[in-house]
Amino acid sequence: MPVPFLKEIKLGTYLIKQKLLGNKRYPLVLMLEPLFRCNLACAGCGKIDYPAPILNRRMTVEECLQAVDECGAPMVAIPGGEPLIHKEIGEIVAGIIERKVFVSLCTNALLLEKKLHLFKPSPYLFFSVHLDGLKDHHDKAVCQDGVFDKAVSAIKAARAAGFAVNVNATIFDGHSAEDIAGYLDFCKELGVGVSISPGYAYERAPDQQHFLARKKTKELFRKVFALGKGKKWNFVHSPLFLDFLAGNQEHHCTPWGMPTRNIFGWQKPCYLLGEGYTKTYKELMETTDWDSYGTGKYEKCANCMAHCGYEPTAADQMISHPLKALKFAFTGIRTDGPMAPEISLANQRPAEFVFAKHVEHEMESIEKKAKERPQTLTAAE
Ligand code: SF4
Ligand code: SF4
Repeated sequence: MPVPFLKEIKLGTYLIKQKLLGNKRYPLVLMLEPLFRCNLACAGCGKIDYPAPILNRRMTVEECLQAVDECGAPMVAIPGGEPLIHKEIGEIVAGIIERKVFVSLCTNALLLEKKLHLFKPSPYLFFSVHLDGLKDHHDKAVCQDGVFDKAVSAIKAARAAGFAVNVNATIFDGHSAEDIAGYLDFCKELGVGVSISPGYAYERAPDQQHFLARKKTKELFRKVFALGKGKKWNFVHSPLFLDFLAGNQEHHCTPWGMPTRNIFGWQKPCYLLGEGYTKTYKELMETTDWDSYGTGKYEKCANCMAHCGYEPTAADQMISHPLKALKFAFTGIRTDGPMAPEISLANQRPAEFVFAKHVEHEMESIEKKAKERPQTLTAAE
């Protein structure tokens, strides 16, 4: 089993508890980005286009653990940037595990074999290795030859050392259904679970040509799932999210389900969009106009079907409508026939472009801190 059974039980119990308490908005996974620096520069990445002083910033161990405590989500995903570049990543992960909170450490795996000694196998820890496809495809997606081979070698080493490992794939336009199916076969042979999501059209990603629109996404996933009938691929998603990707569910986004904390603060409204920042999680929840985001509401959300917005919706649906989930268990993913109605874009509000303002604000803050406390800042960096 790719994901520890304990995690499934604990997450299910947590979801039921939120429902019983009548909580409308609750976090499922905290997305913790302790740094933006990366040792790759993938064409579809929207996370690394910052000036060097911002790429050099790191959240401290204390800041990371405070974010975990403030948020209270039962699981933390640590993307970045590349988290293994962070010198104190071992302490951050250990602190989260100590709290009996699950950790998914997302890595491109270039440093994984070298840094495995920083971690101890635990039912609360698993690595999520960035692997977008088979060798040629992945190396092209990450703009560097040889990365696929290194990632696969690191996956094998981590598994041999007793760690649970999944892979995560971002799917872009031009990736054929047959090739994706071949990749999923390969992951099954490798013995790892797969998290899969269509790429979000980051406004700062160097390659803007290959992001999938919603209709194309659904058609592509239908073809992929049709090729997978009877193969029992190891997805680590709730089934209703996969059914959504195949165009059979009319889900609306749940941006508060995976709140994001990074060097700027708590990010409004989601992992993909940095429209504003708050100092505390409470402030994020209370001051974000949640109803103004999502497909049909905001131009930047028009084509989004990413897991960080829709996996929490699917998880909520599984708990709120157990009969729907039960029916799905018998029927599986439908890969033909009519699709669920698409959300109208007629009344979405126009995009606001705030990236430059946030960068300017952060640069001013870095310069101010450097003048006030040069030694402290150097130590933290
Ligand atoms: S490995 Fe991840 S963070 Fe690094 S450049 Fe690629 S997509 Fe961005
Ligand atoms: S649809 Fe939801 S998850 Fe996607 S960008 Fe908009 S707010 Fe974020």
